[in-house]
Amino acid sequence: MRRLGIALVCALGVLATPAGAVSGNVAALQVALRATGDYRGTVDGLAGPGTRAATTAFQRRHHLAADGIAGPATRRTLGRRGRPAWGSRALHAGMRGWDVAVLQFQLARHGFPSGPLDGGFGPRADAALRRFQAWAGLGADGIAGAATMGRLRAAPPRSPLRFYRPVPAAVGDRFGPRGATFHPGLDFPIASGTPVAAAGRGCVIRASYDPGGYGNLVVIQHRLGVTTWYGHLSRFAVRAGRCVTGGDRIGLSGSTGYSTGPHLHFEIRVRGAAVDPLGAFL
Ligand SMILES: [Zn+2]
Repeated sequence: MRRLGIALVCALGVLATPAGAVSGNVAALQVALRATGDYRGTVDGLAGPGTRAATTAFQRRHHLAADGIAGPATRRTLGRRGRPAWGSRALHAGMRGWDVAVLQFQLARHGFPSGPLDGGFGPRADAALRRFQAWAGLGADGIAGAATMGRLRAAPPRSPLRFYRPVPAAVGDRFGPRGATFHPGLDFPIASGTPVAAAGRGCVIRASYDPGGYGNLVVIQHRLGVTTWYGHLSRFAVRAGRCVTGGDRIGLSGSTGYSTGPHLHFEIRVRGAAVDPLGAFL
């Protein structure tokens, strides 16, 4: 009876999500439907026509009422990917399921992405969770209980500082969900060798090659715990320790690290949480 109650509440949560509102439950549904091969779209937590069509396709294949809504029967048929409900248990490394997918999605939205959203609580999710907990002033114990889930209900953080654009170019890929992952910055597609400028006043705390994917990376420390990140550079024009003002050249753009073509990857982090730079430009 209790399980049924939880499932019904959760189904209503999916059903009652207002158009345009981002929902962790919708993201978990998208993760589950990617695993079944019914959904190939982005895990964005938005209940759009693609998600509805994928739900309907799954329901048809399993001889369920094809209403496009992930109700209790659909969730049950999704098996371990369709349960347990978010909030029904504390989460830690080694677990799997619907609620783990919600956690991965919410951590990413709050600036702590942890690799592919797949409903599996691995070491990357564990590291992201501990970083979020420390960021939020919670005990970084790697267990997502009521306090952590409560903090994840808040709006994602935003930059308290405003910045100049680091290059005079149009924005390509934006901050946010991308496929089954989360893009923590903005991409500016530009030719290799384009001068890259500091987005604001601060001091360079890193100018070195990052083997994790950023390639040649400059990080500038600003006020209020804010850092800006400039990835895939072809050349450095600064060294760690150098202080700069907005507009100073810090390097040349390129395609070093994990990059499919010349572009600048730009991030803003607030005490370590990646935030959407688009809302922070002057
Ligand atoms: Zn990027």
